[in-house]
Amino acid sequence: MSEVVSIENCRIMRQVNSPSTYRGGGVIETVIYPLHIAGAARASVALKQNGWELIGGCSNTLIADGLITTPIVSTKRLKGVLNCGNNLYVYAGEKLPKVCLIAAEYGLSGMEELSGIPGSAGGGAVMNCGCFNHEIAQIIEYVDIAIDGKVERLYSSEIDWGYRHSGLIGRGIVVGVMFKLARSSTDQIKKVMAVYKARRAHQPKRPSLGSTFKRADGISAGYYIEQAGLKGMTCGGAQISPQHAGFIINVGGGSAVDYLSLMNVAKSEVKEKFNIELEEEIKVIDNRQA
Ligand SMILES: Cc1cc2nc3c(=O)[nH]c(=O)nc-3n(C[C@H](O)[C@H](O)[C@H](O)COP(=O)(O)OP(=O)(O)OC[C@H]3O[C@@H](n4cnc5c(N)ncnc54)[C@H](O)[C@@H]3O)c2cc1C
Repeated sequence: MSEVVSIENCRIMRQVNSPSTYRGGGVIETVIYPLHIAGAARASVALKQNGWELIGGCSNTLIADGLITTPIVSTKRLKGVLNCGNNLYVYAGEKLPKVCLIAAEYGLSGMEELSGIPGSAGGGAVMNCGCFNHEIAQIIEYVDIAIDGKVERLYSSEIDWGYRHSGLIGRGIVVGVMFKLARSSTDQIKKVMAVYKARRAHQPKRPSLGSTFKRADGISAGYYIEQAGLKGMTCGGAQISPQHAGFIINVGGGSAVDYLSLMNVAKSEVKEKFNIELEEEIKVIDNRQA
């Protein structure tokens, strides 16, 4: 057991199942759950000093196999959504599909495209997640981020935004996000959400981390992987989805090593056939001693 015994305003637990939406990978010995902002501020100090890891919804993160001894801070318990007129303040651990539904109920439009992304509000901001030509950065007014024990407010214009990237990564713990939205009717918002849901119907239903790689030169990595003839390739319990080659899915008992093996095959085959370097979109937490 690692030596983390307590951090004020945090709950510390051992996790028995991998938190990753891939549903494969190791067991985490010590997970630190800040219970509110003060806990996140405390955890941000330890995170930086000790080189710990940080997860949100873990829908873009692969956890290595075996026992993970590096303590991991999880924002899962930072919960709450506040209606602020035309805006919505969302605590980092809230999941985007739920937030989009709450926004719809309040008659607040602007996040319909994001309603199918299974990440947390904090992770979504940090990754600048997006789809259907829409990025979360477009609707962020500011984020509150715990850095070295203090909570700072960063307005969107102060943040470096990129494709599936932001300058927030590795900086601290995003504790809350203010979304700037616009008034509309709940019915209309739900109709638009249904359209985007239908457009996702082709996506694999099996556990995954979404797209493994970023688009390359504006073209989906899945296109190159399919053209390289890798659709449906399996390794242990992982498979390059026969439905959507951009996703690696868990077809039963898939390990992190299975996932990484397919990822490496895809990278090297696409490089060889098209001279294209695929860049990972997913993050990997390795098993290392803190
Ligand atoms: C079925 C499926 C469909 C998907 N579709 C899309 C899509 O359409 N578009 C898209 O962009 N992505 C998609 N994804 C990927 C994923 O949902 C997004 O990248 C999401 O933004 C990740 O959020 P998370 O909270 O799960 O992040 P995690 O996987 O938990 O973390 C990702 C990174 O963010 C950091 N991080 C997380 N939370 C915080 C925080 N509070 N403060 C600071 N750093 C933090 C972590 O340290 C890590 O580096 C999909 C995934 C799945 C499984």
